[in-house]
Amino acid sequence: MKQSSDCSSLQLTTTQWALSEAETVCQQRGVRLTELRRRVLEIIWNHSSPLGAYAILDVLRNDGRQGAPPTVYRALDFLLEQGFIHRLASLNVFTGCRQPGAHHSGQFLICRDCGQVDELSNLTVDAALRAEAMARDFEVSAQTVEVLGRCLMCRNEASHHAN
Ligand SMILES: [Zn+2]
Ligand SMILES: [Zn+2]
Repeated sequence: MKQSSDCSSLQLTTTQWALSEAETVCQQRGVRLTELRRRVLEIIWNHSSPLGAYAILDVLRNDGRQGAPPTVYRALDFLLEQGFIHRLASLNVFTGCRQPGAHHSGQFLICRDCGQVDELSNLTVDAALRAEAMARDFEVSAQTVEVLGRCLMCRNEASHHAN
């Protein structure tokens, strides 16, 4: 997986948007976006591809914090609960949510080569899964659809190397 920490100005703008969105939602819900929770969210958004907990911990240590893994996990749990981030179980990484105010299930196209993630919000898929679960008397607590594959960029690169 490509690990780059450089962020373009576009990503910075997105990060700023995500942070202010999270602050607004927290105020509405009466929960606290502590400095650490805010920083963890910022780290996730600043990165071009989803991050694992230990990569996040590394950035926090670079900040000069004495962050222990449980602290980071608690911050991640909070962000997950509030719907500000999603956890992608197949890669064990976290990605920022593009609709942080709305509770929704995530659908993701995940590139196995570069780790890029595209979040979809197909309401039909959502409703179909809910209906299937309901028909089987199954109570859904999390509904994340992860589709693994290769993005266009990586496929182009592969065919370029093949020639
Ligand atoms: Zn989302
Ligand atoms: Zn890719």
